[in-house]
Amino acid sequence: MTREELDLEARKTLESLPEELSVKDRMAIDVCPMPSQDPAARCRNMDEVALGYGEDQAVLEAKRCLNCKNHPCVDLCPVGIDIPRFVGLVAQRKFAEALDVIQESSLLPSICGRVCPQENQCQKNCTVGRAHKSVDKAVAIGRIERFVADWARENGVSTVPAVAPDTGKKVAVVGSGPASIAAAADLRRAGHDVWMFEALHKTGGVLVYGIPEFRLPKKLVETEIDKLRQMGVHIETNYLVGRTRTIHELMEEDGFDSIFIATGAGLPKFMNIPGENYVGVFSANEYLTRSNLMKAYDGKDAQTPLYHARRVAVFGGGNVAMDAARTALRLGAENVTVIYRRTRGEMPARREEVEHAHEEGVDFLMLSQPVAITADETGRVNGVTIRKCELGEPDESGRRKPVEIEGSDYTLPFDCVIVAIGNASNPLIKMTTPEIEVNSRGNFIVDEATGETSIKGVFAGGDIVLGAATVILAMGQGRRAAAAMNRYLESR
Ligand code: FAD
Ligand code: SF4
Ligand code: SF4
Repeated sequence: MTREELDLEARKTLESLPEELSVKDRMAIDVCPMPSQDPAARCRNMDEVALGYGEDQAVLEAKRCLNCKNHPCVDLCPVGIDIPRFVGLVAQRKFAEALDVIQESSLLPSICGRVCPQENQCQKNCTVGRAHKSVDKAVAIGRIERFVADWARENGVSTVPAVAPDTGKKVAVVGSGPASIAAAADLRRAGHDVWMFEALHKTGGVLVYGIPEFRLPKKLVETEIDKLRQMGVHIETNYLVGRTRTIHELMEEDGFDSIFIATGAGLPKFMNIPGENYVGVFSANEYLTRSNLMKAYDGKDAQTPLYHARRVAVFGGGNVAMDAARTALRLGAENVTVIYRRTRGEMPARREEVEHAHEEGVDFLMLSQPVAITADETGRVNGVTIRKCELGEPDESGRRKPVEIEGSDYTLPFDCVIVAIGNASNPLIKMTTPEIEVNSRGNFIVDEATGETSIKGVFAGGDIVLGAATVILAMGQGRRAAAAMNRYLESR
């Protein structure tokens, strides 16, 4: 059904409901399906896949909420949005008021409503889902949140958070991903002079260079960053902290009173198998950055060449692998195969992302470990040698370990390989500020309660602390550090 048809269905259901809804009435309403582009069409365009609820769908979905007193949903939202209150306002068609409630805790509802893994966060313990014994039946909090943000944008309802009087304190925020955006907003709200330094020419971190346009339109990210500008945050791009200026220079020479570092986990990991240096092998980071940030797909506006490939192999089973595989299809590949060493049940990617990839025609080769990449005489990739695996005993993550089957190797033809097996943190700031303590994986060690690093006044959060995590966890860390920085600055 089209978006309009689904919304009309919702209107009919709303009209059939009694004025006052009992718990039983609310529990009897089915989850509103998300309208989306047809898989056959969308696998060749960059437009957004999920189209978002219409007004009646959002209201109907909101009416499923029981307004629980103990609100288990809020406890699992890393930024603590007052979910029952905003959802209740949507049920009354008070969309602008709902936005105000969300914005008390989050500046990025249009983004989180789209990319939060809600089934593991706010929706995980929703009473409605638990009563139906399925997280899929939980109130679709993320979709309602997205609706509110989209409605506000489409109707010109935009509120810029108020800023307290000038405190005379100068604060630097390093990086411009979700952790930094959340921290910069809270620090500026408190009245500090906030400077954001970003290494790339565009702000937004993984939101702009990693997550593809068809899941998160970049215009939305720009709108949110503009809000920071309107609040008075200074934003400097092409500014690599550790090279342009070091942390010490910022503190000791440039007059910054405190610094928040959220430089993410942008260093790709490789498998260290033969052939990873051949032409046509990309890290998922590079591949997605070429497509998202440098618009490789966009003929006239492309800022980087597109690597034309017919048969693409993607190594890995997480969300990044799904994004890379779906991007490869959209960039014109005839066949894309995800190669993963465990089975579908152990894949870390969100189920919805795997289903979308499958619907769009991505193939999955499970229980398969790439052991070598082969190339022709010019050094261009022409195949991948794969070893079959079987599942063994569970490892520390609780998932059954893949065990390679000796003598089972075979080679399949591919002309491009994308390695999506994870990222580590960038070592530059650590190298230029050795006093910052890091763990064995290179992640910054911080005080759990405040986010402060081993240097007084220097705080950190997001993926540089957590390792590759999620947008909303990064934002939660940004908010926590900003609160601690406000206290620190007040005490000085
Ligand atoms: P980042 O977003 O990584 O931002 C860090 C920024 O710091 C970057 O802009 C970088 O250029 C800049 N920087 C780095 N070093 C320096 C320096 N020395 N000086 C100045 N600037 C610097 N999470 C979800 O919740 N849902 C999803 O659907 C999802 N999909 C993902 C898809 C992909 C392809 C990837 C890679 C990640 C995805 N994630 C997703 C994870 C999520 O995007 C990250 O957890 C989140 O962006 C981390 O935020 P951050 O602010 O810590 O860092
Ligand atoms: Fe749920 Fe994410 Fe929204 Fe929090 S920010 S309510 S976790 S969708
Ligand atoms: Fe509503 Fe579910 Fe939260 Fe209860 S747990 S308040 S039903 S969203």
